[in-house]
Amino acid sequence: MEWLFLILVLIFIYYSYKYAWWTKSVSFSYPRVLMYHMISEHKKGTKFNGLRVSPLEFEKQIKFLNDDNWTFFTMNELILNKDNLPEKSIAITFDDGYEDNYTNALPILKKYNAKATIYLVVDRHDREWSSKRKKKNSSGELKRESKLSNNQVKELIESGLIEIGSHTMTHDNLSSLSKIEKEHEIFNSKKEIEKEFNIKCNSFCYPFGIYDKEDVSIVREVAYTNATTTEKGIDDLKNKTLFELKRVTISGKDNIFAFKIKIKRGLRGVNK
Ligand SMILES: [Zn+2]
Repeated sequence: MEWLFLILVLIFIYYSYKYAWWTKSVSFSYPRVLMYHMISEHKKGTKFNGLRVSPLEFEKQIKFLNDDNWTFFTMNELILNKDNLPEKSIAITFDDGYEDNYTNALPILKKYNAKATIYLVVDRHDREWSSKRKKKNSSGELKRESKLSNNQVKELIESGLIEIGSHTMTHDNLSSLSKIEKEHEIFNSKKEIEKEFNIKCNSFCYPFGIYDKEDVSIVREVAYTNATTTEKGIDDLKNKTLFELKRVTISGKDNIFAFKIKIKRGLRGVNK
């Protein structure tokens, strides 16, 4: 029977690591900022299915938030109201500007009257940005994903539910750029979005979550009101710089149980 005991111990260790049951819930007076990329079915044999949340799972998640009395904000609204947010405030964000944000996510957001922020790459078509982070990511998988057209972006804005933020001009790796190039990526993307869509572009998101002090100061200087990173967790906006905000990463591999844990604690397990 010793082997059975050993197997039970191993299962216990595996699930403890996976779900970190001993970690505490973060106060519901701190808003949650969720990070998504695509809302689409998984593609067999591809690398980035973690970035693809199926429409069915996405609807389960939004329905849960709605039933559980969360209040949805866009990023800029969250910052404007940061000193008197209701308990259970939440901001949904989508990075990059994939077309499925319009075709698959918008109908679900409309159904539950849920607001969201999309961080748009201005020059987003036919671009393989994943290799800017790691050279070996050059399969073209993300390049082949359809991106939002400007007309679709206009419809997203007209829905009244969507804020458009900037995710730079080209989704370059800021750490590889000169100061002038960084300013181009950070400031010109804001100007282009404001001009093209006749809106204020207030919110910024660092590509790959890679940034340094210089980037933060450029983002501040060109008058964004806030910026998000890919650091996992939940911030108290009252006691926090608004230009390095953490987010809760929602993966295409999360089931609804994992999603609910992440909403409570910011992380599902030890480091995910
Ligand atoms: Zn991105």
